[in-house]
Amino acid sequence: MDSDTEAEQNGGSLLETDPGQGGLADNTTAEEATGVAIESQDLDVYYGDTQALQNVDIQIPENRVTAMIGPSGCGKSTFLRCINRMNDLIDVCRVEGDLFFEGKNVYDPDVDPVALRRRIGMVFQHPNPFPKSIYDNVAYGLKIQGKTENMDERVERALKQAALWDEVKDRLDESGLDLSGGQQQRLCIARAIAVDPDVILMDEPASALDPVATSQIEDLIEELAEEYTVVIVTHNMQQAARISDKTAVFLTGGELVEFDDTDKIFENPESQRVEDYITGKFG
Ligand code: ADP
Repeated sequence: MDSDTEAEQNGGSLLETDPGQGGLADNTTAEEATGVAIESQDLDVYYGDTQALQNVDIQIPENRVTAMIGPSGCGKSTFLRCINRMNDLIDVCRVEGDLFFEGKNVYDPDVDPVALRRRIGMVFQHPNPFPKSIYDNVAYGLKIQGKTENMDERVERALKQAALWDEVKDRLDESGLDLSGGQQQRLCIARAIAVDPDVILMDEPASALDPVATSQIEDLIEELAEEYTVVIVTHNMQQAARISDKTAVFLTGGELVEFDDTDKIFENPESQRVEDYITGKFG
């Protein structure tokens, strides 16, 4: 991913965007009242001639952790990238069907993907801090959005929410690149939440980290769900079982085979194929 794209993910292009043109109103919708943050209907995704997702119907609840699990190549990341239209950046990618965020189809022509990404932040597999100070990493998106008042308080709040403040409060001027891998990932989470999104998408956020750092990220994800809707792709079934409220199981061919409460999926799934996958018979 190039730095422009990373910047955009963190609010980098928002200055050029009239907030009134985003197509996504900030007011409460009927969907919010019923607790659905994201809904897809008959979602098909293709890369050229290859179909990556088939007829995916899902309702992702707000202020919960929803995990996407399934074998490699079954479309989990593709689905995640549909939510904030990151797939727009892939020339051969084509999306059919509907995907609603708070009741608005994010693929409607009047939706500005940059405005959408301001509401739906993303954290990637490999921590990717900017080559800037810890403070500036968190302040970056806020500055781009012109939210410069009370900057110190905003940076402190985001770092506290990301459970990083105590470790960095005396070294905010040091480079974000000098932090450990786990700290870098929490810095990226602080950067994502500083601009006050509604949803945080996480694509294997702990898979490059050691067990202690992984455990810290898992604790953090559970806390974040008190304020944000979290959607996480993980190849680690135990991790999904530990931290998520809902689990979606994708299987080969991009089919969403089962979506339910996480306890139900892991203890008593409806589908034999899901049971076989969970119990390690394949995948
Ligand atoms: P997962 O996250 O479950 O591992 P992906 O969403 O990455 O699965 O991939 C789903 C399918 O789409 C795979 O067959 C993969 O090879 C294909 N795919 C993913 N990204 C691209 C791309 N940029 N170009 C072409 N095919 C892709």
